[in-house]
Amino acid sequence: MIVESVELKDYRNYEFLDMNFNEHVNIIYGDNAQGKTNILESIYMCSTSKSHRGSKDREIVRFGEDESHIKLNVLKHGMKYRIDMHLKKNKTKGIAVNGIPIKKAVELFGIINIVFFSPEDLNIIKDGPGERRRFLDSELCQLDGVYITELAGYNHIVNQRNRLLKDCYMNPGLKSTLDVWDMQMVDYGKKIIGKREAFVEELNEIARGLHKGLTGGIEELEILYEPSVTAAEFEDKLSRNRERDLRMKLTSVGPHRDDFCVKVNGIDIRRYGSQGQQRTAALSLKLSEIYLVKKKIRDTPVLLLDDVLSELDSSRQTYLLESIHDIQTLIT
Ligand code: ATP
Ligand code: MG
Repeated sequence: MIVESVELKDYRNYEFLDMNFNEHVNIIYGDNAQGKTNILESIYMCSTSKSHRGSKDREIVRFGEDESHIKLNVLKHGMKYRIDMHLKKNKTKGIAVNGIPIKKAVELFGIINIVFFSPEDLNIIKDGPGERRRFLDSELCQLDGVYITELAGYNHIVNQRNRLLKDCYMNPGLKSTLDVWDMQMVDYGKKIIGKREAFVEELNEIARGLHKGLTGGIEELEILYEPSVTAAEFEDKLSRNRERDLRMKLTSVGPHRDDFCVKVNGIDIRRYGSQGQQRTAALSLKLSEIYLVKKKIRDTPVLLLDDVLSELDSSRQTYLLESIHDIQTLIT
């Protein structure tokens, strides 16, 4: 897949920008605060409808303006796609694909496949389980169109259940209604656990090989899924924990508490890794994403690298650049 061009109007610091890209490595260079990251962000927006920085639409609209426009032209499997996005200060955004408006942002998923690599991604290993779950979920959402609805369904039910747990405190008669939520939670939860399990297994296979290359064969990487509860035990554990959940007013088991463990030569580097080890492992995970997306879409994703090279030593820089030679890359 190739991003051919991007056009921005009143986007962040750009009043107007029109930029074309070639199909190999494109280097965007300039002083600090000139708008390099903003360009990558706008492309990422067209792939996921969200900013990789977690910014709100109103923060993206250029100061003093009411609307931003992004126009992105993409070539995929020989077909041209145009994404138009209107970001508004006080309203939800409008999106059109090839001139046809889409109703839900999820319809955008899968049209443009991006692997975005920013310096924050190098912290996946040392950050908390929430960050690692976010990594799992964003990978799975990109690879599996159904996962995103299952995840949204699951999260909705956890929130409803937590609210009900609070309400039960004042109104114990409500306790019997928990059964309905628990059933749905187990239904969705089992699907999520199953998919995460399979994904981590696949990730482990690919990342292990890449990591060997990155470390010159010295480090053996292992990634292990650490589910809060297995699919088989979920129903049972949820009901056994009910009294405790009622006391805590929180749902204590389920995939919303999952994590994965990252080991190097048998040692858990979340806790005991050096910074360099944690970074290299994070790089292996992100590079694996390229292979997984490639396998899924039978095409190459577009790689966006924001300020990553400066964070790596020269042998890792070389390895990274050598492993991406056949992928369109935009690099700041
Ligand atoms: P660095 O090399 O430091 O990473 P950069 O070139 O990546 O810099 P960007 O992060 O793209 O810089 O930001 C460029 C500028 O955009 C910043 O100075 C920022 O203040 C400005 N900016 C951010 N949001 C808006 C907005 N809504 N309206 C106008 N300017 C904005
Ligand atoms: Mg930047």
